[in-house]
Amino acid sequence: MKLYMPTKVLFERGCVRAHGAELQVLGSKAMIVTGKHSSRINGSLADVEAVLTENGQPYVIFDEIEENPSVETVARAAQIAVAEKVDFFVAIGGGSPMDASKAISILCRHPEAIAEAEKHLYDKTPMDGYPIAAVPTTSGTGSEVTPYAILTLHSRHTKQSIAQHLFAQVAFVDAGYLRTSSYANMVSTCVDALAHLIESYLNTNANELNRMYSAEGLRVWGAVKEALLPELAKAADGSMTLADETLDAFMRASVIAGIAITHTGTSIPHGLSYPVTYEMGVPHGKAVGYFLPGFLRAYENREDVARVMELLGFDGLDAFCSYLEQLIGRPQVAQELWEHDVELLMSNPAKLKNYPYEMTTEILRNFL
Ligand code: NAP
Ligand code: ZN
Repeated sequence: MKLYMPTKVLFERGCVRAHGAELQVLGSKAMIVTGKHSSRINGSLADVEAVLTENGQPYVIFDEIEENPSVETVARAAQIAVAEKVDFFVAIGGGSPMDASKAISILCRHPEAIAEAEKHLYDKTPMDGYPIAAVPTTSGTGSEVTPYAILTLHSRHTKQSIAQHLFAQVAFVDAGYLRTSSYANMVSTCVDALAHLIESYLNTNANELNRMYSAEGLRVWGAVKEALLPELAKAADGSMTLADETLDAFMRASVIAGIAITHTGTSIPHGLSYPVTYEMGVPHGKAVGYFLPGFLRAYENREDVARVMELLGFDGLDAFCSYLEQLIGRPQVAQELWEHDVELLMSNPAKLKNYPYEMTTEILRNFL
């Protein structure tokens, strides 16, 4: 058994400004990697810029990270980072900018790989990167504490985790940044964290050490689950009305879930979600959530499934499924895409290895 998660996590309101000196030691010139809008409205970009300025550390901003970032985008950002002589990165946003920063950092450290970025990022030969600080602004992916980076591969019409693994050196986790999230985005990202916890607990690599994380994360998530229901959390204009303590709890669950999947990886719901996101544009967490009921129904160890329900505070699987449906609705996936999705997963043993039992096409077809 092994436990290893080297990221220093600073979890408190106002942590970026309070612990700005943590950035000082990472390098001499930063690239801030972020999306188009959200970091400007939730205050995270202003906090990071203020700290870098106070530290006397010059920086450039790359704010073109799209949802489900592509290999092309990270290669473009890396080219700029090399030209600007950047030697560390500050990722601000959801999983998209945080994942992108890992790939950009690796390519920037190995400029010769940029021209064939896809080949090198997906090659098993290890490559290091420059230091990264991560500032999550969604309570979903846990990318601030995982070594994974999932990129869109237009060449293959799907998304895939890069072969290279890289942890952020430090994560500044401030649930105050969640305040500007829409209800729909909050639901999708929280369901992603829920899926990480479930897929980590019910996993070939689960053991008594890493289940400390998945079990505790399920308990934390479950304690605030009712607050996420639309009648309590959704305003008429689509904004989100969760209380500060609830935002803190979902953020905590998301970080714990990230630590959990760092040790186990994800499983079949994540594997099935990627073509659905690529082809239909369904947000990551929602797409993963589509496959949770089927996964839990099929899972052979019923005692473990019952334990997951108990930790979440559900009175059985039916209660869980009807709760989830209230959050994300019923899955809508065209038959042709679904068949292609099943075929793709069944033909990829690497994607099935975290499922501890035999998986067949017949079982998988029942997931929807
Ligand atoms: P995201 O794709 O990073 O962001 C989704 C949307 O939310 C964007 O439009 C973003 O706007 C907006 N947003 C982010 N924070 C906001 C805030 N505080 N207020 C208002 N809007 C906000 O979403 P995500 O679900 O966090 O990340 C999904 C990605 O992470 C996927 O590519 C998925 O595959 C990956 N992932 C990675 C891991 C891992 O371990 N590395 C695990 C699970 C998933 P802007 O574009 O303007 O910022
Ligand atoms: Zn996920």
